Amino acid sequence: MKSRPYRGILSDLDGTINRGNVLIPGAMAVFDDLSKKGIKWVFHSNNAGCAAADLALRLNRMGLAVNENQVVNSASALIAALSREPAGARVMVVGQEKLVQKLEASGVNVVNDSRNVDILVTAIDSGFNYHKLKEAQAALHNGARFWATNLDASYPGEGAFLPGAGSIVAAISTAAGRGPERVLGKPSPDMAHIALELLGLPAESCIVVGDRMESDILFARNSGIAAALVLTGASSRNDLPGFSYAPDYVFSGISEIATLFD
Ligand SMILES: [Mg+2]
Repeated sequence: MKSRPYRGILSDLDGTINRGNVLIPGAMAVFDDLSKKGIKWVFHSNNAGCAAADLALRLNRMGLAVNENQVVNSASALIAALSREPAGARVMVVGQEKLVQKLEASGVNVVNDSRNVDILVTAIDSGFNYHKLKEAQAALHNGARFWATNLDASYPGEGAFLPGAGSIVAAISTAAGRGPERVLGKPSPDMAHIALELLGLPAESCIVVGDRMESDILFARNSGIAAALVLTGASSRNDLPGFSYAPDYVFSGISEIATLFD
């Protein structure tokens, strides 16, 4: 089935490489084998609750020799997008303290006064409450732009699905009467641009691997990159006819991508 000489892999994490803190069977072997053949890997996650370096550490603990330059998350895409805004742009953050610290360390002007906000950024926030909802609503009523790290309704936690950043975006959108005009995470192509830069490869030499049609496979389509769906997570083969786009390959699990690299 080999059609192109792929040189790089943009792999999703949850449901593709791991479930919680456990690697999916075959993930370590295929990562090691292809890495030895000179194939480059970058992992992508919509999770902005921690830094790319933390995600790399998590993969290290599961046994994958990955460094922080092999991980991109929606926080990385957010920082890249904010760096293209005028210096000093006032940014209000609904998100984990870790994200706030990461933004501040990157030179972002994080503010708390809802009367003076240029951009409201929303991300996963386990400390989300009525006060934060009220402040976000006020910032939007006062004219702030509205960005979201992702619109995922839920994400897989330890043994259960947990409310995702999209649930928080929905609450703020309802309160303010308008939704986000920009979304950084999958399926937007922002993370792909960063991943390709990290890989040092053109889009046509790479393949996106992921388990969710509406995020990973659409992300690949939006980025002009080939796509492989793995059936170890969110989407099943029966879901495919319901979408207007399709993956180039469907594999039962991550280890089967080896067939693309002879
Ligand atoms: Mg996934």
